[in-house]
Amino acid sequence: MKISRPYELLSRDKNIPLNKTAGRFYFEKFIHTFHKDDKYFSALFGYNNPSPEDKQHIFKKFVCIINLETNAYCNRTCGYCPLSFFDRKSKNPKHFKEISITDGLFSKIIDELAQIHYASTISLNLYNEPLSDIHLFKRIAEIKSKLPDVFLRFNSNGDLLDKPTLERLADSGLDSINITLHTLKNEVYNDKKSQTKIERFYHRLALPLPELQINENKNITSSLQIGNLLMLVNTSNWGAFGNDRGGGIKELSIQGRTQPCPKVFREMNIDYLGNVFLCCNIFPDDPKNKPLGNLNEHSLFEIFASKKLAKFRQHLFDFSEKMSPCATCNEESFDDGRSNHDNVLEKIKQGASFE
Ligand code: SF4
Ligand code: SF4
Repeated sequence: MKISRPYELLSRDKNIPLNKTAGRFYFEKFIHTFHKDDKYFSALFGYNNPSPEDKQHIFKKFVCIINLETNAYCNRTCGYCPLSFFDRKSKNPKHFKEISITDGLFSKIIDELAQIHYASTISLNLYNEPLSDIHLFKRIAEIKSKLPDVFLRFNSNGDLLDKPTLERLADSGLDSINITLHTLKNEVYNDKKSQTKIERFYHRLALPLPELQINENKNITSSLQIGNLLMLVNTSNWGAFGNDRGGGIKELSIQGRTQPCPKVFREMNIDYLGNVFLCCNIFPDDPKNKPLGNLNEHSLFEIFASKKLAKFRQHLFDFSEKMSPCATCNEESFDDGRSNHDNVLEKIKQGASFE
């Protein structure tokens, strides 16, 4: 079973497994499916010592999406992105060896996922433009041959997309491409200009203009099915509603976050060097952002079940005042059921002695 955007909205259904549940419904389902004697839940919070097989089960049961950047280049420097002050643009995408994941590391990651028949989502992004990666089609082919049931997608700024590339993508096995037409560095978001941008985009690719959903001063979304590929094209007012990216974009910081966050339960975030980060909002190139581990040295399953991540999960499941980098983050928690969270933590602590 695959997840596409309309399907994500339906993922609240109790018959859809937790590992295919959208972020907004994740905690609700997590709490609903929680059982105090389920050792995988307690291991997720660091309360027992899972075996190597247990670690694979934990990964498969809880992870919904792997964000994996295959190179470290983007042609833009959007004002609400760390790439406005950390340079990735002057890197030459033709010097791909210096800025791309190695074939060996990429295959190691995909082979590990094949061991557990991973069938949730892979997105070929962190802070890169996937269409600049000269190995993109090779990567898609490897993923789809080894992980036929995975939902494969990526985000793109659309600048490098032309008709032949789109047709090739539609035949490649890619399930979805999410194109955001960004504002320029000092441009202020505007509904009318955004609508024109979307119309021009479809016109440039000689595609029919689908219906636009306009969310005033926030975003405009649209979608078009091209063969097996779902193409989403949108604009977003990230300058006003974006994320402070681990504290890097000060204008978007909030103060005193106490809300939980589902990202550390349902995401794995990997840069092109194999470093794993807390969430997709932590920018890999910033030296103050330390990785949780590296996939050249550890497996995906070891890092996901590590004590370091378990500690973050304890902290990000309750309603306590959050530490950096979460203290100033406005990421939605999609959940205000404080008592349910406290109950789960209490039951896990009570059962912790059973190991
Ligand atoms: S927001 Fe996306 S397109 Fe803009 S600079 Fe960052 S990675 Fe590139
Ligand atoms: S609260 Fe923000 S910074 Fe912390 S894990 Fe969630 S998304 Fe990341």
